[in-house]
Amino acid sequence: MIHDTRLFMLLSLVTFTVSIFPSTLLAFDEPMLSISTGNVTGVYYAAGSAVAKMHNKKRKEYNLRLLAEASEGSVANIQNVTDGTTAFGIAQANALDYAQNGEHYWQDAPVNNLRSVLGLYTEAFTVVAAVNANINSLQDLRGKIVNIGEHGSTDNIQAKSILGFVGLDMEKELTVSEVPTYEASELLQQGRIDAYLYTVGHPNLSIKEASHGARKIMIVPPSTKYVDALLEQKDTLVERVIRVDYYKDLANTEPVRTFGVKAILFCNVDTNEEVVYRIVKEVFENLDLFKRQHPAFAKLTPERLSTKLIVPLHPGAERYFKEAGLLR
Ligand code: GLU
Repeated sequence: MIHDTRLFMLLSLVTFTVSIFPSTLLAFDEPMLSISTGNVTGVYYAAGSAVAKMHNKKRKEYNLRLLAEASEGSVANIQNVTDGTTAFGIAQANALDYAQNGEHYWQDAPVNNLRSVLGLYTEAFTVVAAVNANINSLQDLRGKIVNIGEHGSTDNIQAKSILGFVGLDMEKELTVSEVPTYEASELLQQGRIDAYLYTVGHPNLSIKEASHGARKIMIVPPSTKYVDALLEQKDTLVERVIRVDYYKDLANTEPVRTFGVKAILFCNVDTNEEVVYRIVKEVFENLDLFKRQHPAFAKLTPERLSTKLIVPLHPGAERYFKEAGLLR
């Protein structure tokens, strides 16, 4: 009887472990490396999964499986790659720039062990608001409840810098909410916030989710004056127009002009050269398939994948770009 009970407990434990950690057990003998991405409602997670998919088609030959891991986004990814928790990460160009120059989150602690692998799509600075909150410009955020993302997150850093730039005093003029951005769409529908700020590729699930409920939602265009001034001043920012036809329940009818920033796949300086070379090669050699993995990748070109990568190029990526004639 005691014997049976023990056996039953052992079997239950095995069943439980297999059901909560299936990939760990199944991939037990297979070497794995992770790409630290973003939350599942953003596009980093899809981008990391797409890169992994291109590589993993040859995972037996390469004896390595790449795995996209959810995370809190750029800041967390830079930390993970810096301290070796993950081999790869995805981050906004401006976050990599801050890290390498010791600014914002990295004030007085510049990071010098990051290397670029591939340039990806352009993310857009996006202000999502409830139509009945009457927010038609960044200035109209004054007096409203605005979610800017968790303290220490990229969204939070970005929001503080942009709102400061347009002259809004966050402490005095806004009611700031600092919940993780992946919860913001729900808060907006529940009427607990008036707007949220998110730098992200399009289309994404956050805005799809935000626009699906009873409360009518829109994307607020920042005024031309601020977009132009930001583009003029910050090298890492580029013009970006958000197509609104992706989101059929959104109140907008016209595309939204805003500014954006490149998303970049990067790694640690110590990440194995052959591994990096293979990842770049598989993405380039399967570029059409890669582009079909997400609508945000539709405009990718070899040039976009290989230029404006902010941190120094990893030798594995450099080798492939030279072979492909993209670098001399
Ligand atoms: N831009 C966001 C960040 O750097 C992530 C967006 C996404 O997950 O697609 O944290």
